[in-house]
Amino acid sequence: MSEVKYYEPKVYLSEVEIKARVLELADEINELYGEEELTVICTLKGSIIFFTDLIRHLKMPVLCEFLGTSSYGNQTASTGEIKMTMDVTEPLIGRHVLIVEDIVDTGLTLKYLLEHLKVRNPLSIRTAALLFKPEALKAKDLEINYVGFEIPNKFVVGYGLDYAQKFRALPYIGVIE
Ligand code: 5GP
Repeated sequence: MSEVKYYEPKVYLSEVEIKARVLELADEINELYGEEELTVICTLKGSIIFFTDLIRHLKMPVLCEFLGTSSYGNQTASTGEIKMTMDVTEPLIGRHVLIVEDIVDTGLTLKYLLEHLKVRNPLSIRTAALLFKPEALKAKDLEINYVGFEIPNKFVVGYGLDYAQKFRALPYIGVIE
């Protein structure tokens, strides 16, 4: 078999650091909701690993939902306009809802989701993002209730995040140089 060269991104946040922070976030969420049922929404595909790690530390009854978004435009230029490519399967009316995002960059995706899900009359709606790039934020008045790490405006991969669909399975968050 020929040798396959696999580029390894430089570690930015280690597996251990992420694990500890995810536990802290879960503790905060457990404290707020107590035993209330919670619908937790995973935004595909980037949030898959954060979502599955987080929900396993939640103590209340959890309903798992998945949705997909993408932005209009081509690979290099986004128009900033978002579309939903896959919707949740259960009604949100009267439920506590937590949207789980991998990363908030411009914030336009999360803002769009909040606006589109609020009109379904959930009892409450909050947001959790593993990563947040404050320098890139464009969305006005966006509330992120739980932030894992604030990071500089760098392109990161791993722990669910991709570059051209690669690197999602890395257990750490890395930067491509
Ligand atoms: P927004 O700009 O709307 O806040 O972020 C939209 C999406 O862009 C995120 O959910 C994520 O999928 C992607 N994104 C933003 N910054 C990064 C990054 O540094 N690395 C990767 N892999 N994806 C990113």
